Amino acid sequence: MSFAPEIKGELIEILGAKWVKDDPVTLFSYRSDALTLHPAPPMGVIYPGTTDELVACVKLFHHNGISFVPRGAGTGLSGGAIPRDRSVVVEMFRFNTIEEIDVANRTAVVGPGVVNLAVTKAAAPHGLYFVPDPSSQKACTVGGNVGENSGGPHTLKYGVTVNHVLGLEMVLPDGELVRLGGKAWGVPGPDLLGLVVGSEGTFGIVTKVTCRLTPIPEKALTMLGVFESVADACRTVSDIIRNGIVPAALEMIDHIVIEAVEKYIGAGFPLDAEAVLIIELEDLKDGIEDEAERIREICRANNAREVRLAADEAERAQIWRARKEAFGALGTISPSFYTQDGVIPRSKLPEVLEEILACGKRYGFRVANVFHAGDGNLHPLIPYDSQNPKDVENVFEVGREILEICLKAGGSLSGEHGIGLEKAHMMEQVYNQDDRDNMIAMRTVFNPDDLLNPGKIFPNPSRCSETKVVRGKTGIAV
Ligand SMILES: Cc1cc2nc3c(=O)[nH]c(=O)nc-3n(C[C@H](O)[C@H](O)[C@H](O)COP(=O)(O)OP(=O)(O)OC[C@H]3O[C@@H](n4cnc5c(N)ncnc54)[C@H](O)[C@@H]3O)c2cc1C
Repeated sequence: MSFAPEIKGELIEILGAKWVKDDPVTLFSYRSDALTLHPAPPMGVIYPGTTDELVACVKLFHHNGISFVPRGAGTGLSGGAIPRDRSVVVEMFRFNTIEEIDVANRTAVVGPGVVNLAVTKAAAPHGLYFVPDPSSQKACTVGGNVGENSGGPHTLKYGVTVNHVLGLEMVLPDGELVRLGGKAWGVPGPDLLGLVVGSEGTFGIVTKVTCRLTPIPEKALTMLGVFESVADACRTVSDIIRNGIVPAALEMIDHIVIEAVEKYIGAGFPLDAEAVLIIELEDLKDGIEDEAERIREICRANNAREVRLAADEAERAQIWRARKEAFGALGTISPSFYTQDGVIPRSKLPEVLEEILACGKRYGFRVANVFHAGDGNLHPLIPYDSQNPKDVENVFEVGREILEICLKAGGSLSGEHGIGLEKAHMMEQVYNQDDRDNMIAMRTVFNPDDLLNPGKIFPNPSRCSETKVVRGKTGIAV
């Protein structure tokens, strides 16, 4: 099913024929994001170029009861941008302007289609950067980061996207344009901005983001701890934090991923190690070397075979390239793999990782791990054969069991990839019916007809229409 002719005609009038598509190739291309396990083609795709155009399209959808879903770069791993119910995909890449870098206020005003890394590149000449650094930062957009409240390796010290967004402009599902927050902290009243960041494109379509910029640290040191056992590497993570040191990043890569990364990039990681820890310190010049020495001691006390310090910027960059391209490197081992995202208390890393490996083994999968160890944010990667229906069925099952292991350990369903379509059915394991109803009621304030990105976060979208909440003003109308 593509656009009804009269709807297509109106969309073309608003956007021009070039920016309205419903041919089979387009519908196929937009059937999934980076979660390829739940494909669903859209009714069509639109590419608005201005806020006025977007508002006009949203009003048209609202008037005709057509559901729609915003999309950034489509790198989401929980199916947030998958067009369930044949929703129209609203592709936001044309909102790709960096409008302002305000050095005095340390802010950047950017369109949601701006690629994450581009913000840092634009701020760097002023000694500033945008902290959220998902490993996908060369491709993912600021709009997607806001949608998912994305994290990254440096979340451990600096927090996630919500800690680095000061204001938003967005279009509500009925076409009303609102602003939340601004250039300063401390907007009175409930924190609506905090609610919208991480709402996975179900509250409104973001059209402008005011990002907080942070000074580039005076000095950064990157260390590589090499371990003969994953358990020793895990204990090192807990011991570093127990000793009062909060590194900027504390990332773990296991043996399978080391092999893949070496094949792909050749970063110089030892192929016979069971795990490596990337430990990054960022601070003032004074004192940072002492902290590095304390970390070295903690690594050695946990049987590290070697602790290397990156000698220069080139070596640092190579270590980070290896970490950030690790998911891609897995392609050298298997053409398909499923990435999970769960959180556990970091002190439980050794036993939980063991349980996860055993769980994979029961189904014949060799689970690989590369993750934000300091946050206890696991990313088990399960290589599978997408052409084998039994493998597909099993990979779902392993993913579900992994999350149950995380919940049993006192953890949570997602550290940064969101709930999306993928984990909606597991929300009832975390929240009781009252809690879920309250959260759905909150969404209904913004999205009363559930036309915006239906079926995400909560499994039963029809409940939204049963929840009677009258929407008042949710921001400052513009
Ligand atoms: C190789 C790889 C590595 C990754 N590493 C990380 C990582 O380290 N940390 C991390 O957190 N994530 C990571 N991710 C996941 C993903 O990159 C992030 O979730 C990212 O923020 C998604 O951005 P996007 O532009 O691709 O958004 P999309 O995938 O297009 O959309 C994501 C969600 O945001 C919503 N959305 C998009 N644009 C808007 C808008 N303008 N207004 C409102 N809602 C919107 C969508 O509806 C959807 O629900 C990784 C993914 C890959 C493939």
